[in-house]
Amino acid sequence: MKTCIPKYIKEKQQGGLLKKIKQSSALLTSCSLCPRQCNKDRTRKEKGYCSTGKKAVVASFSAHFGKEPQLVGDKGSGTIFFSHCNLKCIFCQNYDISVAGRGRKVDDGNLASIMLDLQKTGCHNINLVTPTHVVPQILKALDIAIDYGLNIPLVYNCSGYESIDTLDILKNIIDIYMPDFKFWEPELSQRYCHARDYPKIAKKAIKKMYDQVGDLKVDKAGIACSGLIVRHLVMPGNLDGTHHILKFLKEKISPHTHVNLMSQYHPMGDADKIKELSNPLTHKEFRKALHLAKKFNLKIIR
Ligand code: SF4
Repeated sequence: MKTCIPKYIKEKQQGGLLKKIKQSSALLTSCSLCPRQCNKDRTRKEKGYCSTGKKAVVASFSAHFGKEPQLVGDKGSGTIFFSHCNLKCIFCQNYDISVAGRGRKVDDGNLASIMLDLQKTGCHNINLVTPTHVVPQILKALDIAIDYGLNIPLVYNCSGYESIDTLDILKNIIDIYMPDFKFWEPELSQRYCHARDYPKIAKKAIKKMYDQVGDLKVDKAGIACSGLIVRHLVMPGNLDGTHHILKFLKEKISPHTHVNLMSQYHPMGDADKIKELSNPLTHKEFRKALHLAKKFNLKIIR
């Protein structure tokens, strides 16, 4: 029995989705979809920091069976990997997609078909990976897909480097927010992704997301219907940052925050140019991070 009713159904019925498409599309003409504020006219083939023009580029899509069990269930999370990125960490574990931009351009109809295909295979949700720079394109595709029966929750799986105005547009559209909270120290975010303001922006963005969707809620089968999940990739030599991030989530977001503490860091991309990034995370470091998470009594997903 289907128990999760996605927010976007009502929003479309009430005319809100159309307004949101107009609002977000207007941002593309002098692009301020994300905090980079490049002000490029992406409707005229200009490209900003994310190297994306008018059309979204999709690297791959499939039912995904990794990571968060509340999203994956027994049929998988319907994952769409968008190419390019507005953050571009130098150690990105998907460097060929985020920086090299491997993928194919899709129009709104193609993207809607991808969403519907994933639903048809039984996926529990549509999991939009790195969606920040293609929000207008996603909303236009969603509008088409709803007309053809899309009715599973939308997951916004992002870096945490989000504009508050764009998040306001996404209110009553996104059911599950899954941001990263990557770095606590501005010096590190500057060095690793040329974004000194990342920690400040991520804190505000995660608060905004929580205000929209609250704590994670699951149906009778344990599948996520709505809410917030925060991912944190534990970085080598930086348990202090992990400590601050977990404390922030506990004290400033919610003591019930679901956190996926990730251990898979290994040097990729240009990571070997930075001394502290040139080695994988050790088991000992990850055990210490888990210990910290237990201390804060957060809901740890593994
Ligand atoms: S979405 Fe891309 S072009 Fe727009 S502000 Fe962000 S990085 Fe710049």
